[in-house]
Amino acid sequence: MSAKPNRAFSRAELFPNGTTANEAGHLIIGECDVSALAAEYGTPLYIYHEDTIRDTCSEYLHSFQSRLPEARVLYAAKAYLSPALAGLLSDTGIGMDVVSGGELYTALAGGFPAERMAFHGNNKSAIELDEALSAGIGRIVVDSLNELELLRSLLENRRQVQPIMLRVTPSVDAHTHVKTTTGMLDSKFGLPLDSGEAEKAVVAAQAAPEFDLMGFHIHLGSPISDLTPYEEGIATMTAFAAAMRDKYDYVWREFSPGGGFAVSYTEHELPPTIDFYAEAIATALRMRCSDFGLSLPTVHVEPGRSIIARSGVAVYSVGARKEIPGVRTYVAVDGGMADNIRPAMYGSKYTAVVANRVHDPMEETVSVAGKFCESGDVLINEIEMPRLAFGDLIAMPVSGAYNLAMESNYNLAQRPAVVFVREGMAQLTRKRQSYSDLIAL
Ligand code: PLP
Repeated sequence: MSAKPNRAFSRAELFPNGTTANEAGHLIIGECDVSALAAEYGTPLYIYHEDTIRDTCSEYLHSFQSRLPEARVLYAAKAYLSPALAGLLSDTGIGMDVVSGGELYTALAGGFPAERMAFHGNNKSAIELDEALSAGIGRIVVDSLNELELLRSLLENRRQVQPIMLRVTPSVDAHTHVKTTTGMLDSKFGLPLDSGEAEKAVVAAQAAPEFDLMGFHIHLGSPISDLTPYEEGIATMTAFAAAMRDKYDYVWREFSPGGGFAVSYTEHELPPTIDFYAEAIATALRMRCSDFGLSLPTVHVEPGRSIIARSGVAVYSVGARKEIPGVRTYVAVDGGMADNIRPAMYGSKYTAVVANRVHDPMEETVSVAGKFCESGDVLINEIEMPRLAFGDLIAMPVSGAYNLAMESNYNLAQRPAVVFVREGMAQLTRKRQSYSDLIAL
């Protein structure tokens, strides 16, 4: 009997590359049947498609290096990190931005080279800085004058010189959610330009033989679905670089406009492509550097979400159903805010398909609720779905970034299993937590 070909389905473009559905209506990711994976590993389940991660890294490298040949792309590990992911990324040629001793440890455990990492954070501890120096970290992105002095004293004891960048807050509004806007004066991150702290840091860093001051870094917020904030940030930072050259003979060699590149979470959002972001950044930087007579610095970009989000899919099982006539129908799933806090925290929007009945027609509008003890634990407020039944599988695309990275054990939920899929093979990269894991510490 010949196998029937797989078919495209609606909302498919939000799923990992090559996702299809078979004739039986089962969602197929990386040539693996999602229903079979759910049966084997249980739900909630997080599925990551390896080739989508690799392809997105290649796209980033190509988009930026074709316009700025020296450009480096650093994956912002805060979006999601595991040893398996670090191992996969180490072969792609990109770098990594870490923000804690834990991320550094995990990246190293996965075999990611320290020299391709940059260490960020607004309150790095002496222990974390020491660990980063011992590992041979490529860059430390210094966030404050206190940190500059702390790092200097650690380096002095070690008789070591460290390449650093300064994270500057340029007072540029990225117009993102207030909880994810980071480039304004009133921010816990970075050395403000407006208060003169950034300039003081340039003077202090240049005076200390322990530092090799490579340049400046900004990160304006996330997700930024507009090119203007990057252009404004570049205008501000080139003016600052020119002022530092004129006043102190300081010549920047590196510049990072940060990350924050947006992705589509639903079919209604159409943010710029990676190529558009790269073009806007390269054009603005070339133009402003030429205006100020500055040499073009090596550009580092730090995408997190846009590298990993679309490669990841969350799979839940449908449980309780509550119909409130004239109000709404809640369909509850077996996960929620413990594995995806984003809808509750930021009002983030998602979509979904029924992974075991992908071709079925839409029949009802429901709210997909989580199982946690908060009224705000609703994953999708309103979505058209086939008539949902107990045991159906709901697959939520674009779940790869900031879901598991921000997960919790709220209500003492067990953290879900994670599988990486590729060409019909599934690798369990994290087991579902057991009850004994919950009390193991
Ligand atoms: N770089 C820095 C310094 C950040 O704080 C963040 C996110 O908070 C990122 C990069 C990555 O942002 P995104 O995942 O939106 O690309």
